[in-house]
Amino acid sequence: MTVPFLDLAAPYAELKAELDAATQRVLASGRYLLGPENEAFEAEFAAYCGGRRCVSVGSGLDAIVLVLRALDIGADDEVIVPSHTFIATWLAVAATGATPVPVEPDPLTFNLDPAALDAAVTPRTRAIVPVHLYGRPADLDAIGAVAARHGLAVVEDAAQAHGARYKGERIGGRYAAAFSFYPGKNLGALGDGGAVVTDDAALAAKVRLLRNYGSTVKYHHEVKGTNSRLDELQAAMLRVKLTHLDEWNARRSAVAGRYRTELAGLDGLVLPTTSEWAEHVWHLFVVRTADRAGLQDRLTAAGVHTLVHYPIAPHRSAAFAELGTAPGALPLAERLAAEVLSLPIGPHLTDDQVGQVIAAVHTGLAGRAAA
Ligand SMILES: *Cc1c(COP(=O)(O)O)cnc(C)c1O
Repeated sequence: MTVPFLDLAAPYAELKAELDAATQRVLASGRYLLGPENEAFEAEFAAYCGGRRCVSVGSGLDAIVLVLRALDIGADDEVIVPSHTFIATWLAVAATGATPVPVEPDPLTFNLDPAALDAAVTPRTRAIVPVHLYGRPADLDAIGAVAARHGLAVVEDAAQAHGARYKGERIGGRYAAAFSFYPGKNLGALGDGGAVVTDDAALAAKVRLLRNYGSTVKYHHEVKGTNSRLDELQAAMLRVKLTHLDEWNARRSAVAGRYRTELAGLDGLVLPTTSEWAEHVWHLFVVRTADRAGLQDRLTAAGVHTLVHYPIAPHRSAAFAELGTAPGALPLAERLAAEVLSLPIGPHLTDDQVGQVIAAVHTGLAGRAAA
């Protein structure tokens, strides 16, 4: 039996009747962009995140870009980002013309280390973009305190954290949070999509303007906006899936619980941790091991498919060569890039599959190919 890293057809199989009905409803409606499905989804997702405002957009990357643009961040500005994240966080900053300034992670939480923030602030710094990486909330109080001290905006990259809670409060809108609905995310569309959730009415209005050519009244263009809209079809899919998100996150949590119990204390393996104040939604289950290539090969041989999130730190990517960051300048990010390994996790893994992963890790760590 093979264990896929993620089975994207499984959620469709589970919800086929509901998703098919929603598809037919949209196809027959003649409304394909910015129609009733979008309005309903925005209201439902805002309510899910705690009664705040939601603006749907074309992708998670765009969600970050549009918030930064709505804050008038651009050329000559600096924005603090985690050194260890998916490169989209950095690309969003670069897309505005601003410069991403990396801060190293706390290697136990994988999230940016608030204690390292002050040293990265310069007179040009405008914002901090914490990422709730792998589904685990970053320490928003500590980050917010630094931001307040220096007069900086906070923009949460919540692309991996739908439904997570920070000190009991759902992620999404303490500041402005950018979500992605890429198919593999905890709440995934059947294509690209994203959303901004915020309590700030003026900010939400500005993002709404920017996503649709800078216009609210057709052919009246107030600012140089872009085209970044969520299809009605995707909004309809997301409305169905949103009603299952809590249950799916609970199933992820159960898988993570088994991994954390049944892989505890193994030599050479560092398991992900949790905090009392954070409700982790386990977008990814990321372990660390010095012999990553060896373990990954042995797991593959045992039919267990794993991935690496992410093998190249953004500052080591060709895309950011222009920053001239020397190799070794961000040692924690580079070390994590070399050691992290993501085990299969998702709401549709069976108990047997979880058992197979656990057995394969035990055998693989002992350096043996599985039987
Ligand atoms: C997925 C992701 C994004 C980008 O989302 P897209 O919808 O793919 O544009 C941004 N940041 C993080 C941390 C992500 O995981």
